[in-house]
Amino acid sequence: RAHLDRIAEVDEHVHAFLHVDTEGALAAADRVDEDIAKGTPASPLAGVPLALKDVLTTKGIPTTCGSRTLEGWLPPYDATVTRKLREAGLVVLGKTNMDEFAMGSSTENSAFGVTHNPWDHARIPGGSGGGSSASIAAFEAALAIGTDTGGSIRQPGAVTGTVGVKPTYGGVSRYGLVAFSSSLDQAGPCARTVLDAALLHEVIAGHDPLDSTSIDAPVPPVVAAARQGLNGDLKGVRVGVVKEFGGDGYQPGVLRSFEAAVEQLRALGAEVVEVSCPHFTYALPAYYLIAPSECSSNLARFDAMRYGLRVADDGTRSAEEVMALTREKGFGAEVKRRVILGTYALSSGYYDAYYGSAQKVRTLITRDFDNAFEKVDVLVSPTTPTTAFKIGERVDDPMAMYLSDICSIPSNLAGNAAMSVPSGLSDEDGLPVGLQIMAPALADDRLYRVGAAYE
Ligand code: GLN
Repeated sequence: RAHLDRIAEVDEHVHAFLHVDTEGALAAADRVDEDIAKGTPASPLAGVPLALKDVLTTKGIPTTCGSRTLEGWLPPYDATVTRKLREAGLVVLGKTNMDEFAMGSSTENSAFGVTHNPWDHARIPGGSGGGSSASIAAFEAALAIGTDTGGSIRQPGAVTGTVGVKPTYGGVSRYGLVAFSSSLDQAGPCARTVLDAALLHEVIAGHDPLDSTSIDAPVPPVVAAARQGLNGDLKGVRVGVVKEFGGDGYQPGVLRSFEAAVEQLRALGAEVVEVSCPHFTYALPAYYLIAPSECSSNLARFDAMRYGLRVADDGTRSAEEVMALTREKGFGAEVKRRVILGTYALSSGYYDAYYGSAQKVRTLITRDFDNAFEKVDVLVSPTTPTTAFKIGERVDDPMAMYLSDICSIPSNLAGNAAMSVPSGLSDEDGLPVGLQIMAPALADDRLYRVGAAYE
């Protein structure tokens, strides 16, 4: 009730939520009370109020993905993540705002209005999961779930001063996660502390036969690692500073915060070395071929026949016309840009030159990580080159918007685990800065040890 009151008090200014499920939340809380009275709470997080990004399906509760296309759609099933949260007794408060179909870095591409950064309402909360991170930064929820295709958990975490984790690809089921770029999409925890994130990580992770890319391996011991990290000792941990991140386009305040973070890791006992990952420079262009290509294919399902919106179906038009008019009306500018880019990149005659080349670059980036992780246990960088920018500042400049994810995208392309942990406030503008920690696939626990020691 305290969280629902807080939402009622501040969400008209923050607009983190697209839908608040008051009745469902109170009923879930009552069930937890009964379990506790019986002495059988479902998990250590039973009763904790949580906000869910509106890209994960929730049975009978609106799921829009920030798009007019899905306005009014009620999913007939829960995503595996949603199911696991409910089974662990977490109380789902509602669904959070996001860039349409998770395409963006500021939440300005939502069809339902922008979310405001709780630190400064004139600034963006990051994206695409700005609503999830803003909801915990504004104390409207204790925990939240985001999804990270190219940085959409970590970058909002960085600019709202919260923790955001992209688990190893395949570590968390994608069943019921509305697909943007299937080889990159991954759900993960948003929290105010590293230990909170670890507890949530263990609830949502694990093999799922309903997702063909789900990894059939034990969940990394992230809670134990976070607890170990809390003793503040990083002796024996080798940390690599990625040489290729920094320079032009990075705010001096962000770089100074990063240097201070590296010094602190050293002071905690870590051995810090510089590491070169030469192909990371090509990660952004490779991503902007691979992600739109997969998006153009995935979004073909919004054909005006199966879900949500259908316009101009007046009996005089062909199915193709209804489909085209519906997609024209239902999708926003950024989604259309990606569908066009992706369709072009996959066209015969262009496929090898664009999509094929991007896949090769992806392999080179994975090898850069492999080489680096022979020398170090984790890599670190700033999470994003700047602090939260002003609402409206980058809406007409897609390239400037895309650059927000320059540091986060390599881990998505390689399928590795990565975290953003709060790294204080910039001495330039007093806004939150994030430290990114990257670990090999299935070594998510390293993020939590280093992150908990650092915070
Ligand atoms: N900002 C990136 C994009 O627009 C990443 C999005 C995401 O991680 N969902 O594609």
